[in-house]
Amino acid sequence: MYPLIDIHTHRKEPDAAALRSIRLGTDAVPSDGSLFSAGIHPWDSEKADPQGLRQLETLPCAAIGEIGLDSHYDFSPRETPQKVFEPQIQLALELDMPLIVHDREAHADTMSLLKKYRPKGIFHCYSGSAEMAKDGLL
Ligand SMILES: [Zn+2]
Repeated sequence: MYPLIDIHTHRKEPDAAALRSIRLGTDAVPSDGSLFSAGIHPWDSEKADPQGLRQLETLPCAAIGEIGLDSHYDFSPRETPQKVFEPQIQLALELDMPLIVHDREAHADTMSLLKKYRPKGIFHCYSGSAEMAKDGLL
């Protein structure tokens, strides 16, 4: 039997069975050597520096995310998350890392980019229909 792990938590001090998700520009990157995922969350896309993504190449980062698009909340101008999402997909492919995708009420734009690049990964936040979900099985 395989152990279960939580592959996405925002808890500040997760246990060994949970992968902490870091919101670059909002959370500090762990310095204890523990595995984590990191990315520029769509809510933070205006304030986070995409150059900060390069630090992930040398850290124990297991996935790029949570990243994506969110048209439900207007925490950033609509065009800004799209400008930040695509370079993160490209980085994940370059580093051969999976994505943790946030897709809230932005399914067409999210799927357009995912179909363009065909990265591996999971949806963490998803607000589309079951039919749309089948579309996400790339
Ligand atoms: Zn999350």
